[in-house]
Amino acid sequence: MNERNRWVIGNWKMNGALATNASLLEALVASRAKSCSGATKVAVCAPFPYLTQLQRLLGGTAISYGAQDVSEHKSGAYTGQISAAMLGEFGVTMVLVGHSERRLYNAETSALVAAKATAAVAAGLMPVICVGETLAERESGLAEATVAEQLAPCAGLIAGAPKNVLIAYEPVWAIGTGKTATPAEAQAMHAFIRAELEKLSAAAADIPLLYGGSVKASNACELFSQPDIDGGLIGGASLIADDFLAIVSAA
Ligand code: PEP
Repeated sequence: MNERNRWVIGNWKMNGALATNASLLEALVASRAKSCSGATKVAVCAPFPYLTQLQRLLGGTAISYGAQDVSEHKSGAYTGQISAAMLGEFGVTMVLVGHSERRLYNAETSALVAAKATAAVAAGLMPVICVGETLAERESGLAEATVAEQLAPCAGLIAGAPKNVLIAYEPVWAIGTGKTATPAEAQAMHAFIRAELEKLSAAAADIPLLYGGSVKASNACELFSQPDIDGGLIGGASLIADDFLAIVSAA
């Protein structure tokens, strides 16, 4: 196994309620407290209003937490936006940027995603930069070119702060669809991304690369045993404690 950090990060998307969050988080904390192996880092990324709850229930535990978006701006007249510094005040240590649902429903461009990632790093947060092709792009042989284009605006940031960044490869056609990339397909793209990162620096090539897209307890082990897959970004299965914990064990 390689020396890179392994991560399993839950993305709750727009799901949750105070009561169900509490039972989920309590189960995660109890299980992590019992587990003697802290080799895999675990985090959950929740909707903004629940960050105080995460701070209360996860503060001081082995589970970190994050948000699902951040403003590219520091402060000012940006109604509805939330800055990286504000997130930091709630104990947030990471933030998803460029999730395909934000690229699709909020028309986020790769340049904007890079600006958000840069704002996150400047405030001491770790951005999880999400990239991935659509089914049409894959079927036209454009999967690698798409991912390379999505990463390109982040190149300066990645080269300058490789230890403060995570990258998640999430093929759009596999997110929430029940269709997972085969371990070989996922590994091939991760190897491609790692080769792109190697062009930036040796440290950049060591950035943990997470796979996301319908990861379940039943397929996690095979995916996570691929040489360039360093863990997962987990959507649906992160809402059920037993499923999420089984995926953590697989990592
Ligand atoms: C995600 O939202 O990042 C994701 C990977 O979702 P799912 O696991 O449900 O496909």
